[in-house]
Amino acid sequence: MTITDPNAPAVTPGGQLAADTARRHGMQSDCPDGVAWCVGEPGNHAGDDDHRHESREYNLTGAYLQDPGHHGIAAFQIAAWGDASNPTLVFQGTGLWPDLTLKQGRELQADAVTWLVGVTATIRRYAIALEPSTTPFTETETEQESHAAFSVALAALDVALEKSPDPARMLAAMRAVLDLAADEYAQAERPS
Ligand SMILES: [Zn+2]
Repeated sequence: MTITDPNAPAVTPGGQLAADTARRHGMQSDCPDGVAWCVGEPGNHAGDDDHRHESREYNLTGAYLQDPGHHGIAAFQIAAWGDASNPTLVFQGTGLWPDLTLKQGRELQADAVTWLVGVTATIRRYAIALEPSTTPFTETETEQESHAAFSVALAALDVALEKSPDPARMLAAMRAVLDLAADEYAQAERPS
């Protein structure tokens, strides 16, 4: 079944709907079924009826795991069997791969930001502890977390610019966000 009217309601099965969505939005997909979010891993698409569609998997696999040949931890991706009409978020947290609800996924997202800020602050504390003579340990824990969150924001901005098709426009948008934040901060500080 093919959608001929681009404004027609989406009533096709998931795989076809995903393919149409991908085509309309100019998205690239290596999935033989055209599932927009699927990376099309050939081994997962070998069978006739039991395709397992999987999005790019994000996980932690660095040398810090101290286990050569490991598969990584905290893996996260979208996955679905068959025609991809019923995708799930899957997360490998404690060795298991539970399906997450959208709400749980967002909770993980929020916790991950807090976690990354905490890791960054702790590394900063550790670096200061190693070099106490050159960097006096005068910051409060809250100040260190604030510095760490700023570092995380800058790292996120680097990624945003690297992936953006229009970095200049993104920088302009970022400037607007900063101006707005500065205005709101100034108003909050102003005595009433
Ligand atoms: Zn696929």
